Amino acid sequence: MIETINISTSYAEEFRDITSLVEEKVKISGIKEGMVTVFVQHTTAAVTINENADSSVVEDILSTLDKIIPPRGNYSHAEGNSHAHIKSSLIGSSRQIIIQNGKLKLGTWQGIYFCEFDGPRRREIWLKINS
Ligand code: ZN
Repeated sequence: MIETINISTSYAEEFRDITSLVEEKVKISGIKEGMVTVFVQHTTAAVTINENADSSVVEDILSTLDKIIPPRGNYSHAEGNSHAHIKSSLIGSSRQIIIQNGKLKLGTWQGIYFCEFDGPRRREIWLKINS
């Protein structure tokens, strides 16, 4: 069975901490030992794991991605959001997290981030929780 998390992003680009939303779905599943796969099926969004203690870390990731892949450039894609597609591919569509004692086995400073690169939009995240 696949679990779904629905979110609405607020900005053109943002990292949204979804750790507690994933934790809640794992708790409801009742699975104590296993893996959860977090999958983003959008081509202009991604999912990553990084520091959630100091918000300047994700700001730096976003600003650095913008320097490497500027919104305006010599792109072929007519929709005008090539930068978002490229960022999506670089960061990636999925992450796997270990479940131990019914909890996500994340490092002390780690959080799971939904990465919006072409918002604001309504987005859907799929979870597969396995024992
Ligand atoms: Zn496009």
